[in-house]
Amino acid sequence: MEGLEQNLIDGKLVAASSGGTFETVNPATEEVLGVAADGTAADMDAAIDAARRAFDGGAPEWADPAFRARCLRQLREALQSHSDELRELTIAEVGAPRFFTTIAQLDSPVEDLGYAADLAESYEWTKDMGEASPVGIKSHRWVVREPAGVVGAITPWNFPHQINLAKVGPALAAGCTVVLKPAPDTPWAAASVAAIAANETDIPPGVLNVVNSSDHALGAMLSTDPRVDVVSFTGSTATGRKVMANAAESLKRVFLELGGKSAFIILDDADVSAAASLAAFTACSHAGQGCAITTRLLIPRARYDEVVEAAAATMSALAAGDPQAPGTICGPVISARQRDRIEGYLRSATEQGGTFATGGGRPADQERGFFIEPTLITGLDNSARVAQEEIFGPVLVAIPHDGDDDAVRIANDSPYGLSGAVHSADPDRAWAVARKVRTGTLSINGGIWYSADMPFGGYKASGIGREMGVAGFEEYLETKAISTAV
Ligand code: NAD
Repeated sequence: MEGLEQNLIDGKLVAASSGGTFETVNPATEEVLGVAADGTAADMDAAIDAARRAFDGGAPEWADPAFRARCLRQLREALQSHSDELRELTIAEVGAPRFFTTIAQLDSPVEDLGYAADLAESYEWTKDMGEASPVGIKSHRWVVREPAGVVGAITPWNFPHQINLAKVGPALAAGCTVVLKPAPDTPWAAASVAAIAANETDIPPGVLNVVNSSDHALGAMLSTDPRVDVVSFTGSTATGRKVMANAAESLKRVFLELGGKSAFIILDDADVSAAASLAAFTACSHAGQGCAITTRLLIPRARYDEVVEAAAATMSALAAGDPQAPGTICGPVISARQRDRIEGYLRSATEQGGTFATGGGRPADQERGFFIEPTLITGLDNSARVAQEEIFGPVLVAIPHDGDDDAVRIANDSPYGLSGAVHSADPDRAWAVARKVRTGTLSINGGIWYSADMPFGGYKASGIGREMGVAGFEEYLETKAISTAV
């Protein structure tokens, strides 16, 4: 695919102004796939300037929701026409198992651009509030929703298409202009979308800008620059805090999707072996590199051994392997740095008295690539480091509970509040637990909450605001009250 070594600034695909590039690596093989533009501060400045000018009247057609909807559908169709190339690129660069590219790693987020396009057309941009005489002056009132302005979108590497497009789609649908700063680990995911947008859609110059760089400071520029109105950030909680602090000076709106340490709760009336297998499958998916993945398995104390055995059996069957293979669920982690970090957590588990029911290190049969065995940790309680901190690897911690209230207590004993699951034969009991767990999403008995029209986001240290759904679209809107005397 052409354009992978370029950034998109003001409608043009350009090399970094310094001529610099940086490598992107296949995490399954450690081979260098190629290079991406190593954008500079001057490039980011030019991108912000282009987005500002396009928003402030430089792209007048962008004010028309029908035009924006047409451009978003063009982008969806263009991306779909390249789906074979994008799929291979995603598997190679992200280490995403092929299976997941048919859902959240590629096909779903591309399809979901259609939801954003539909919202641009169907949204009630102007609400007639009718007449009133609030202070004795008869007035006709309207509430008008307007695009919030220039959006700085900063994204991580784990689900790059999903996260890039779940920001770009709604922000563009809302009428904003965007500067996207992708993670340096997966530059081609964004560069490919940028090239297709530039070459195959009518999105006006400056409306969508993509600046790849090996320098994290370019993300910080988006959170400090007064020309940016909204920062839409997905990444670690530590970086999210910096983004929010940096954004304070220019009082920009901040939208944060951060980390998680979600609980999978099995109640004592559930089909425990089916629930255990699902929990194990989820923890191994994309090598556990999903912020909403349930990584603490809360088990009725009397069923602990039985559930651990079932979960361990599933996890050892889902051996970490080649993401190209159609049956792979657990591929590599993104980098040597991430693998080392996960190994540090595994060491901390044994140092704190934990044991491994399965896994616990690198798989013996993978000579190259950043692989970690699916690992089930037992013998620790919820205060252990591996139960409190986000590991971002295929690691599940089995923790006993003493009934529904205790399970809720343990689930909520976390700085995070992103997601969760509850399994029970009794729907009312499951619902009661679901309502008490303080998280932004929750699955009952395997229900799927992820879709274009459902909000996604976190309580507590998992974030502020919501992505996707109408709530996600409204993150990119301002609200104006207008009244005329009658
Ligand atoms: P990260 O926080 O290190 O980086 C995320 C992005 O922020 C990258 O583009 C990076 O270049 C940029 N960045 C780094 N320093 C910055 C700064 N000071 N100011 C602005 N931008 C800066 O995260 P990561 O390692 O790329 O991704 C993994 C983390 O992301 C995990 O903690 C995971 O839970 C989280 N995540 C959350 C969600 C969610 O929706 N809640 C989704 C995916 C990943």
